[in-house]
Amino acid sequence: MSPQSLTEPLLRWFADHGRDLPWRRTYDPYHVWISEVMLQQTQMERGVAYFERWLARLPDIASLAAADEEEVLRLWEGLGYYSRARNLVRTARRLVSEHHGRLPADHAALLALPGIGPYTAAAIMSLAFNAPYPLVDANVERLFARLFDVPTPVRECKPFFWEKAGELLPEDHARFFNQALMELGALICTPRNPACGRCPLVERCQAHRLGLVDARPVAAKPVRVTPIATANGVLMRDGRVFIQKRPASGVWANLWEFPGGRIEAGESAAAAVVREFREETGFTVTPLADLGPLKHTYTRYRITLHCFLVALAGRPTAPVLTAAQEYRWARPEELAGLAFPAPHRRLIELLHAGRHI
Ligand code: SF4
Repeated sequence: MSPQSLTEPLLRWFADHGRDLPWRRTYDPYHVWISEVMLQQTQMERGVAYFERWLARLPDIASLAAADEEEVLRLWEGLGYYSRARNLVRTARRLVSEHHGRLPADHAALLALPGIGPYTAAAIMSLAFNAPYPLVDANVERLFARLFDVPTPVRECKPFFWEKAGELLPEDHARFFNQALMELGALICTPRNPACGRCPLVERCQAHRLGLVDARPVAAKPVRVTPIATANGVLMRDGRVFIQKRPASGVWANLWEFPGGRIEAGESAAAAVVREFREETGFTVTPLADLGPLKHTYTRYRITLHCFLVALAGRPTAPVLTAAQEYRWARPEELAGLAFPAPHRRLIELLHAGRHI
């Protein structure tokens, strides 16, 4: 298959069928950068909503550099992978101090910035600057697995896909060619029931020719999902709720949370919330009401949060924090402006729904 034989039908198809996405209206490097980081592990529709909300508040690199990290985390809340949001702030500040407030049109310089790896650097170079850098996302991997009839699971042949994308890339059309490949994978060469009848590459597709479309990509072993059970407590006093901010590094760094932690083997959820409160804050609490379990699934973990309303046993004192950098007795309306991990945000919604706060 010659590279040229793909270019024309792909570019024509993209011109006719590519979606109207906000960052495609300008190809502004800042827009491309933010959208690429946001869309990793996020569905398009959801990503667009986050992107528009983000741009309304942080329209350019200067505003992101000047923003408070707390607010940035709040805007990011629900997307997970919070280190990405922190890196966006760090990078924006570096761009202001070292690159005149602009993303450099230089691959090596992009790679030197926090949170910009080979994929994001290639995305910025090709989409924002139309420079000849190939780009392979999960949609392109699936498309190539079928187009070239690859008989091994995708995760075992990533270098091959990048090499192929590089071979096929037309020197002057990286912006549209890369997007055309990704868009074709997203809209036509879908994981189930690909619309081969509407595919501009059907005559060049080896899996289609061999009748192997349903067998490609070859399925990989499923990821093992580890169940985790935690107990978390909501402590109220004078209409305020006790929350603590997690350490600046590690899981959910700098996010707010309700104290709690893993339930140990043989321990009840109620006993765990009492123990966790004592260990993390020095408070002795008594469970008042079981708010029920909340379930939240990540790629590798399935978390069940057993949530309790708790009361202080004894006189109130200042907490002794062992798992947080600061604490706050927050007014309920303050919670909307602070960043929490997704399961804890759902606990807040549960508290509002049950009129506990
Ligand atoms: S012909 Fe079908 S399987 Fe092949 S690339 Fe097109 S949509 Fe995918």
